[in-house]
Amino acid sequence: MGLFDHFDLDRWIDHPPALPGGIYGLFRRVFTRRSSEPALEAPDGRVWTYAELESAVEQCRIRLEARGVGPGERVLAYVEKSPAAVLLYLACLSQGAVYVGVNPAYTGAELLELVRDCAPGLVVCDPSRKAHVSKSIRGGGAAVEIAALPAEDVTDPSARPPARSGHHLPMGDDPAVILYTSGTTGRPRGVVLTHRAIAANGLALCRVWDFRPDDVLVHALPLFHTHGLLVALNCALLAGGSIIFMPAFDPGKALGFFHRATVFMGVPTYYTRLLKHPNLRRSTVRGMRLLTSGSAPLLPQVWIEFEERCGHRIVERYGMTEVGIITSNPFRGERVPGSVGYALEGVRIKAVDPTGAEVAPGVTGELCVRSAGAFTGYWGNRQEPAQDVNPQGWVATGDLAVLGDDRRVTLMGRSKDLIITGGLNVHPMQVEVALNALPGVAESAVFGVPHPDYGEGVVAAVVWDGQGEPSAAGIRRRLSSRLAGYRIPKRILITEGLPRNAMGKVQKTVLRSRHAGMFLE
Ligand code: AMP
Repeated sequence: MGLFDHFDLDRWIDHPPALPGGIYGLFRRVFTRRSSEPALEAPDGRVWTYAELESAVEQCRIRLEARGVGPGERVLAYVEKSPAAVLLYLACLSQGAVYVGVNPAYTGAELLELVRDCAPGLVVCDPSRKAHVSKSIRGGGAAVEIAALPAEDVTDPSARPPARSGHHLPMGDDPAVILYTSGTTGRPRGVVLTHRAIAANGLALCRVWDFRPDDVLVHALPLFHTHGLLVALNCALLAGGSIIFMPAFDPGKALGFFHRATVFMGVPTYYTRLLKHPNLRRSTVRGMRLLTSGSAPLLPQVWIEFEERCGHRIVERYGMTEVGIITSNPFRGERVPGSVGYALEGVRIKAVDPTGAEVAPGVTGELCVRSAGAFTGYWGNRQEPAQDVNPQGWVATGDLAVLGDDRRVTLMGRSKDLIITGGLNVHPMQVEVALNALPGVAESAVFGVPHPDYGEGVVAAVVWDGQGEPSAAGIRRRLSSRLAGYRIPKRILITEGLPRNAMGKVQKTVLRSRHAGMFLE
């Protein structure tokens, strides 16, 4: 009998449980049951048992408390992926502080924007970047304290467990995590997820994928995104499995771990890179029982090639930061290439037409979701969420889908402008704002086109009215101090004008189809 088998996740949608202790209360029960089993294997080979992990988290939590980080306070993690970052995340959950995971590739300007938005009490960065971070966020308005990532002693597995203090325990309703996405205006929006929401989604995934204590996960995804943090990490910890922790994805190194692992989770780009690696053979993946893909569309030909090459049918799932994972192909049952499967437990779905009426099976509509794993809103209660969430709690995803008679979901594209490159989201508006601020740029339009490695590649069409000859390389160079690398357009097209419709709106569909083959030639 699993620890959490009694939870009725469908009931959580309308009758949310109090969940005292929040998700960390659930983790603690797993940690106790699995105390002498391996929890986390670091890149240098050090292994934490669950008891050691719990002890290290408690030491980290006490440090947060000593710094005055109280319940509800935001702790912004601007750190590279490391076991210490995992401790910081878990310590925040235990303390009732809100963990704000941020891409460490963001420039100082991008970081400052987020600091202004969520006003963290503490910004944690890698020690080598402390001076840079202090300078970047000066003037951010918040009374921010900056700390280097928990030092080695906090992550020392041999450290003695400290006595537990009687600190405040979070409840299911309390915010646990803020993850940033880009809104329709291009400004970052902090998605607030409660302890109950991330617990509901993690537990639903454990069930649909039959995650077990003897599972060994190769964790290669970044921790600043929902996929690496709330899907991969939470799932493994809720199941009491063990984690082989990679600082970043590397196909050869990941394959090197597969002989002693059972689960791998990736974005489609990881699978195309694995397919290019000579060590991907049937024998390499023989011991694996589950390989999942999500965060961007997995091309059916990649799915088919993967099966032909090594006999594994990738389990594609689909989700969104705001509502967690929505659907997955079944672990037991038919996995269909090009389909993202069925709604998870605790999730209701429908496809609607532009008037909001539900469409018949087989007809394309916008997918709407009600989920026990849904967010409570954007941080700071911007006006924006009202457009995406109706009063009954249905969230409009901006994804177009067809539901079959058996309610299997096939995605048909996006109604939103979002670009997903290598599993990372780029909102065109954010890039356009940076481009338009450059001297000589009259206007710009940013869009995504198919890319063999990244799924989509970012492209900008730029209208130039400056002096001299514009150079794409020069524009890219100037963007590099404003935007993280993956947001900088891979190609910049200098053009006389942008295609517009009768209302004057730039026709991104025209640009997308005109340049669809750009990266494929
Ligand atoms: P994020 O909030 O970063 O997880 O991005 C959410 C968006 O990623 C969704 O709204 C979809 O457009 C896209 N997405 C996630 N998973 C898939 C998938 N399996 N297939 C196609 N698109 C996906």
